Amino acid sequence: MTTRANRRPAPGRRSRLGQNFLVDYDVAKRIVAAAQLADADQVLEIGPGKGALTRILVHWVPKLLAVELDPELTNSLSHRFAERENLTVLNQDALDFDPARFFSDGYKIVANLPYYAATPIIRKFISARPRPHSLVVMVQKEVAANIAASPGDMSLLSVMVQLYGAPRILFSVPPRSFRPMPRVNSAVMRIEIHDLPAVPVNDPDSFIEFAAAGFRAPRKQLRNSLQLGLKADPDPVRVTLSATGIDGRRRPATLSLSEWADLYHAWHTISEATVTA
Ligand code: SAM
Repeated sequence: MTTRANRRPAPGRRSRLGQNFLVDYDVAKRIVAAAQLADADQVLEIGPGKGALTRILVHWVPKLLAVELDPELTNSLSHRFAERENLTVLNQDALDFDPARFFSDGYKIVANLPYYAATPIIRKFISARPRPHSLVVMVQKEVAANIAASPGDMSLLSVMVQLYGAPRILFSVPPRSFRPMPRVNSAVMRIEIHDLPAVPVNDPDSFIEFAAAGFRAPRKQLRNSLQLGLKADPDPVRVTLSATGIDGRRRPATLSLSEWADLYHAWHTISEATVTA
């Protein structure tokens, strides 16, 4: 087992690291089972903490990389599993971690994520290179519902995650399964990453920027929200909406992923035509 240390949290930071440790062994086993690990799978664990998942994962895979921000936890985990050559514990912020340095091909992510950083961590890894095959993550229950939402309850987060993968909520976990107990309920979800984006867009980053503009004012009607987000005049927005047949009075949350893709393509066609005219 190897350890790489490169970062120390600022004083007082530890209390803010979302350290609610899983103490229910049955839940830990269910999380690992949900990852459907095969003999050759390589796993990235984010935030191993005191090792509730690590101690199970380490028996299952030939290569396990655990990225932990807290240097004390990193050290104690390293000592505890010193005999395990298939485990590397890295002291790093998962948001700065570059998977290309450790994985050449697909890998699987398994994590009980810190609540405060769950959303940016998921956003980072669903579009990372190389991409993971799947993520099995425990997050706050509301965040899981937000990610797996259907049209009517969509948000920029659900559009983003569903562009890259298929999220499914697997089971809930109550506060009593952790120490200290969190104030919120948790849920375990699996996100299966697609080989190609769920809708045909050439440039996923630009598509997400467009959807972000569409969600600029999520409580407003789509036509107003888009106009604000795109900093556009009413006319091109009206023409874009009528080209797709999408009613501009709808709220952004009601659109499906393929409606966002239709709007995105129409907007680019219309903007390019205006520039060349
Ligand atoms: N996996 C352990 C478990 O199930 O008991 C710990 C889970 S705890 C909810 C989250 C862990 O993530 C903590 O150990 C915390 O120190 C670590 N952590 C917090 N922010 C992090 C970050 N940005 N990058 C990596 N690890 C982080």
